[in-house]
Amino acid sequence: MQVQKDMVVAFHYTLTLNSGQVVDSSADGEPLSFIVGHGQIIPGLEEQLIGMKVGDKKTVNVAAKDGYGERDEEMVQVVDRAEIPDKIDLYEGLVLRANSEDGDNIEFTVKTFNEKEVVFDLNHPLAGETLNFDTEIVSIRSATKEEIAHGHVH
Ligand code: ZN
Repeated sequence: MQVQKDMVVAFHYTLTLNSGQVVDSSADGEPLSFIVGHGQIIPGLEEQLIGMKVGDKKTVNVAAKDGYGERDEEMVQVVDRAEIPDKIDLYEGLVLRANSEDGDNIEFTVKTFNEKEVVFDLNHPLAGETLNFDTEIVSIRSATKEEIAHGHVH
């Protein structure tokens, strides 16, 4: 059996940036499970897992445009410090969450701030980064009809 559409695949991964920084890893926990072809993981990663078998290992390099996108400097925005509630303890790198008007979850990272202004970066923290995944396939099975209908693993 190999990784293909409508299979439930469990795999271990370690995500490393070109700088060598390890961003995320399943190594100390459960492998990540997903249904192939249902938009559950980054497309650039999913494509490269197709055809792998249990026990196969592969390093997958995903360009920024196929990962979290290129950085957009227009998404760096300056806000009046007065608009930020006092209860928020600002620091560089702080991630704030809010809902947009159409209900999407958006995240802002505080880049810099002073007494007057706060500079927010609305880019995804991994935008502009090449994503290097060390992967190992742990299990593969067919998804049930119910899982395919729901679009997630049971
Ligand atoms: Zn369900």
